[in-house]
Amino acid sequence: MTNRFLDLCVPGVANLKPYIPGKPVSELERELAISDTIKLASNENPLGPPRSAKAVIHGQLDDLALYPDGSGFALSRALAEKHNVLPACITLGNGSNDVLDMIGRTFLGPGKEAIFSEYAFAVYPIVTQAVGATAQVARARDYGHDLEAMLELVNDSTRVIFIANPNNPTGTWLAKNNLQGFLSEVPRNIIVVIDEAYIEYVQEDQYPDASQWLSDFDNLIVTRTFSKAYGLAALRVGYCLSHPDVANLLNRVRQPFNVNSLAQAAALAALDDEQHIRMSVENNVQGLTLYETAFREMGLDWIPSVGNFITVNLGRNASEIDRAMLTRGVITRPVANYGMPDHLRITVGLPKENERCIGTLKEVLAS
Ligand SMILES: *Cc1c(COP(=O)(O)O)cnc(C)c1O
Repeated sequence: MTNRFLDLCVPGVANLKPYIPGKPVSELERELAISDTIKLASNENPLGPPRSAKAVIHGQLDDLALYPDGSGFALSRALAEKHNVLPACITLGNGSNDVLDMIGRTFLGPGKEAIFSEYAFAVYPIVTQAVGATAQVARARDYGHDLEAMLELVNDSTRVIFIANPNNPTGTWLAKNNLQGFLSEVPRNIIVVIDEAYIEYVQEDQYPDASQWLSDFDNLIVTRTFSKAYGLAALRVGYCLSHPDVANLLNRVRQPFNVNSLAQAAALAALDDEQHIRMSVENNVQGLTLYETAFREMGLDWIPSVGNFITVNLGRNASEIDRAMLTRGVITRPVANYGMPDHLRITVGLPKENERCIGTLKEVLAS
């Protein structure tokens, strides 16, 4: 049935394909009448939230009737200190998704273009199209970003380039010299967004923290999140680092109280909890190795990943395999919506969860 209001909405929205999140565990268990389900579908931290963050949330409960600090004063200051920038360089978001949306609303619109890569994060096309801008999609190379192909798409209408490093859902990454070279070739009137949602997990020497280039490139925006390694996805808090003039514009479209008080307090506490990050990274390194070993043994190709997930080529329709795994209580993520119908993305879980996922995958592939 066609939507009666389709003709009334703005053209970008009419053609928009919404982001489809993984099903919550509770809903799936109800639907399939199963229990003891594990979720390895949304790149969440299997260790859970840091204890430090849980503790400070309790202290906020008596103030729930009050609006949160709209400027995020304490959190912004702490983040500025961590990154050695001025607080005026920070823009807080209701998740980094919110920041990506603000970037779209600030710099994109009808007649303007955004460049991103094939297989890049699904939110980039959404924030581009929602404001009526045009997406220019660069062909990937070995599932990773091809920076030369991206540069070739630059024209007078280009306003924003989105790069996820590492990328989701492929886990691929760009080395320091390549990314720095790219930044120096992009005209300075184009905003380059480097999305570092998974930076804490990366163990490569040549992997760059792009925030080191903020003073060299005033058109650079670096986005970060507390949803992944920091284990606070439910609270929705992320941020970006940029030149203060860019942050000033982003903050004009930011909703006044976009980051709630529980999220601000928890993020502030989590920021100091280096041990939680260390344990999360350790678990992840072991988990990635476990999956790689299993895939090799099973004769499956996978995309080498530096994130907290790994995407494997099943050589057949992955959605069917995913469905069969669901009935056995293992939730993973088929990525057909990214143009990868034979690939399955698996989030690294706890050792027991990884073992169970691999066992279930073997079982389903054999049946
Ligand atoms: C998960 C993810 C994010 C983070 O989203 P939040 O809104 O901060 O939860 C951002 N970028 C990429 C590439 C991601 O995979």
